[in-house]
Order: sequence, then structure tokens, then C-alpha cells
Amino acid sequence: MNQHYHTIIIGAGVAGMTAALYLKRAGKKVLVIEKEAPGGQITRTSKIENYPGFISIEGPELAFTMYEQLTNLEVEFAYSEVTSIKGMTPYQVITDKEIYTSDYIILALGRKPRKLNVKNEEKLTGKGISWCAVCDGPLYKNKRVAVIGGGRSALEETIYLSKLCKEVTLIHRRDDFRADNELIDNVNRIENIQIITNAEVVEFKEKDGILDKIILTSKKQPILEVDGCFEFIGQEPSTSFLKETLNVDQEGYIEVDQEYQTSLSHVYACGDCLKKDLYQIINACSEGAIVANTILKQ
Ligand code: NAP
Repeated sequence: MNQHYHTIIIGAGVAGMTAALYLKRAGKKVLVIEKEAPGGQITRTSKIENYPGFISIEGPELAFTMYEQLTNLEVEFAYSEVTSIKGMTPYQVITDKEIYTSDYIILALGRKPRKLNVKNEEKLTGKGISWCAVCDGPLYKNKRVAVIGGGRSALEETIYLSKLCKEVTLIHRRDDFRADNELIDNVNRIENIQIITNAEVVEFKEKDGILDKIILTSKKQPILEVDGCFEFIGQEPSTSFLKETLNVDQEGYIEVDQEYQTSLSHVYACGDCLKKDLYQIINACSEGAIVANTILKQ
């Protein structure tokens, strides 16, 4: 028979792990369900320099420290994919492996990297195309790579890759970046980074089953020969399995009230699966703590 939990937290990113920390320290029986590695998006982030208490820390290291904090408290983790939520307090949380029950659910589902959806992208995934510089960057040591995107992630990961790779070409569809001037200046100062603006990817070309060239809309440089390509073109919430269950907006972000309660009673949401102005570790953690506290007050 499956165990019953006070709260099941779906997603072990920083928001979910913070909620688990607060609930477990208050003596509640919690289960965290995660389909990948604990840490969520920060496991794919090279350097974090704006989380208080750490001058500079690598994303996977911060993720592991948070995870270790929870395992020291004996928080339970289950590694499976949640496919649906059924019932009403107690809820059934159905995964691809087990069915669990709980009084409360916290959805801390985060977001997943957006894809370009161009020709050969799927075929060359893992064969030259990646969404994680910290995971796959070392494969391209002293090689030529491209980074697609014009936001903070693209710029920060371009800098990270420039330290490993022979040449990094940053490709952005406009000439205006979504980042502060200091970060843009840092990118401009690095010699082995070249920037192509006002260019979009038309398709990827392969040679012997591996990425070989990127075809661009740029008149100046329509073909770029590369060994690897990293896409950082934003994120989208991982909420498709919930669309029929609770209220999500047109982009898939979960709708919540001021206390982070969803349209279902006793089901809360926090972190990057919510629509907001600021997507930072610090406010994802803060939301996890607020949700836990709201539940503890009941
Ligand atoms: P983002 O800010 O949404 O930027 C996405 C970039 O990809 C934009 O430049 C966008 O171009 C481009 N893009 C989107 N779709 C595209 C397509 N189909 N083809 C080509 N380019 C496309 O995403 P992000 O960089 O992942 O950042 C997400 C959030 O996390 C932001 O709020 C960011 O500030 C935050 N963040 C913070 C830090 C930090 O504090 N250290 C680090 C990373 C991210 P347009 O500009 O033309 O729309």
C-alpha cells in the first residue's frame, strides 16, 4: 500500500526544495517528486553570483548543497514523472511508477528550455545541439561553438563557454540584448567571442550524423561552421499535464491567488511555473517558504 503524506511537492528545483525544508523542519511528512536531478534549472547554470551568501558558486554545487540539506533532514525523494493529479484532499498523485496520496500538493514545476523548432534540431539533439553549457560545454574544449539567444542566460553561458572553447559565436535575432550593460560589455571584451545580430537560425546541417553547419538568415554570414550549438532562447513552464486539472494561462503558467493557491483547494504553486517579473533563485526560494508557511498555518 502506498504511503500517505502531509504534503507532496512536485519538482525539486530551488522553490520545491525550500518548501520541503520549511515543512520538514516543522515536523510534516513530505515527499518530493522529481523526474530529473534535484536542483532544476540551476543544475544547468554555470555560475551564480547574485544569491546572497555566495560570492560565486557553480549551479550544480548550489543544487547539491540544497539537496544535501534535505537528505540530512531525511526528506523523502521519489524519482519519477507525475502524469496526473486526481481527487480532492486527500489527493492522488499519479506517477509513471507509483500512486501517492497527500493532504496538500505544492507544484514547483519550474520551466524547461524553449526549442527553436527548426529542421534537424531534434535529430541532432545530443549530437551537437545542447541546452546546457555546464553539462555539455567540456565536450567542446578547444572547438567552435555557437550560442543562440539574447537574454541573460545566452550571455552568461557565452562567457562560460569562451573559457573552454576555441571560438564562440553568439547569434541573436535582434541587435538589442535583454541584459544589463555590464554583462554586455563583458561579452564584448572577450576576444574569442564573435557576435552575429539580426540573424535567425533557418536549419541545422549534419555531417556523418553530427552537427556541422548552422544556416542563418544573415546576409553577411549565411553559413556558420560549428562543432556545437547551445540554445538559450528562454523557457516555458512544464505544466502540460495539468491543463485539464487546474487553471493555467495561455502560455501554460499556473494561475494562483495572493497566497499562491491554485484553482484547486489545498494545491499551491511556487517558483518559475508562475508568471512573474523576476525569475531569480531568491524569489523562487521565497515563494517556496511562503507556500510552506501558508500550509503550516492551516
Ligand atoms: P529571456 O530573457 O526570455 O531571453 C530569451 C532570448 O531568446 C531573447 O533574447 C529572445 O529574443 C530570444 N529568443 C526567443 N525565442 C527565440 C527564437 N525562436 N529564435 C531566436 N531567439 C529567440 O530568457 P533567459 O535568458 O533564459 O532568462 C529567463 C529569465 O531568467 C529572465 O528573467 C532572466 O533575467 C533570468 N535570468 C537571470 C540570471 C541572473 O540573474 N544571473 C541568469 C539567467 C537568467 P528577443 O530578445 O528578440 O525576444
